[in-house]
Amino acid sequence: MDKRLIKNLEVNLPRLGFGCMRLPLNEGKIDFERAKEMIHHAMSKGLNYFDTAYNYHNGESETFLGKILPEFPRESYFLTSKLPVWKVKSIEDAEALFNEQLDKCNTEYFDFYLLHSLSKKTIETVEKFNLYYFLLKKKKEGKIKNIGFSFHDTNEVLEKFVAAHKWDFVQLQINYWDWAENDAKGAYEILEKNNIPCFVMEPVRGGFLSSFAPQVQKYLTDYNPNNSVSSWALKWVGSLPNIAIVLSGMSNMEQLKDNINTFTNFENINDDELKLINNVVEELRKIQPVPCTGCRYCMDCSFGVDIPGVFGVYNDYKKTENVELTIKNYKFLTEKERPENCQKCEACVPKCPQHINIPEELEKIKREMDLIINK
Ligand code: SF4
Ligand code: SF4
Repeated sequence: MDKRLIKNLEVNLPRLGFGCMRLPLNEGKIDFERAKEMIHHAMSKGLNYFDTAYNYHNGESETFLGKILPEFPRESYFLTSKLPVWKVKSIEDAEALFNEQLDKCNTEYFDFYLLHSLSKKTIETVEKFNLYYFLLKKKKEGKIKNIGFSFHDTNEVLEKFVAAHKWDFVQLQINYWDWAENDAKGAYEILEKNNIPCFVMEPVRGGFLSSFAPQVQKYLTDYNPNNSVSSWALKWVGSLPNIAIVLSGMSNMEQLKDNINTFTNFENINDDELKLINNVVEELRKIQPVPCTGCRYCMDCSFGVDIPGVFGVYNDYKKTENVELTIKNYKFLTEKERPENCQKCEACVPKCPQHINIPEELEKIKREMDLIINK
């Protein structure tokens, strides 16, 4: 596993970090033995960065790492966790949550600690309770080495928050699809301009960039049949100059080995390969059976149907043909939000600038989803 000295932080980080939010499961709980084997394999290959959070695996991810990592010398690995800002109602809450996390992780300190999943709304909590100064205090006490935040909101909000405090690092969702479609490029450039190392989450966009419809996947397999589709996403993002580390949530040994392989003797993506990825993006854009732009003019549906949410899941299904991922995403929608709850009142139809016959499309999607779920 390749490592790089991150100058601003004066640490030698592996290029790949182990995201511990999708560990292998057995009857809904972390499969302790399989997950333990993966951690040992990672450590044996120099992948010594572990990223967890208060809420991962309903709180069990931190506890799991607290049982396994102490088998190794503390200075031989990096441990990261995150403050669940949405649970903080007072500064005493932040203190109690932080101490609970140290206890669960069985550690004296976190190498990296983030304010988790900030948005305009949670930033209000951060400022109200001076959580930045809370982090600074913990840093002075030696309980945190580096402070940062992870983020999901507009680039305008990001820019303001970056300017408000001094950060050691920031964690962003960067991948080649969001770069083109959701201005991840703009977010990346804000960090670059402010000389803040970028830690990457969701490089494979939760599995969206791990398999494609055959006519798209063909571009990648024709170029190199030995590289997995996911490995292209890791290679693409790992080649950006201001990326300090790429985190990947891995669920089995095969994924772990494939990802380690990508970041061993790593070579930056070349011009031909960049063109290849641009072609993949173009081909994916063309697969849009429901021409929904996600503008949300049709919302809210009085009956609770999440119209753009349903269309998004369906369009992604046609782009990836990934049944497992589609069922998972579909089940994220509540029963009320799903197409079967459409009452065909047609109130949404005249609001759609794309002239989509929304109830008709919802009916078609319902039939197709029923088929793949009951297969
Ligand atoms: S037609 Fe269906 S989706 Fe549209 S507003 Fe009526 S119930 Fe909601
Ligand atoms: S108004 Fe039309 S395009 Fe916009 S989100 Fe609703 S269905 Fe999609």
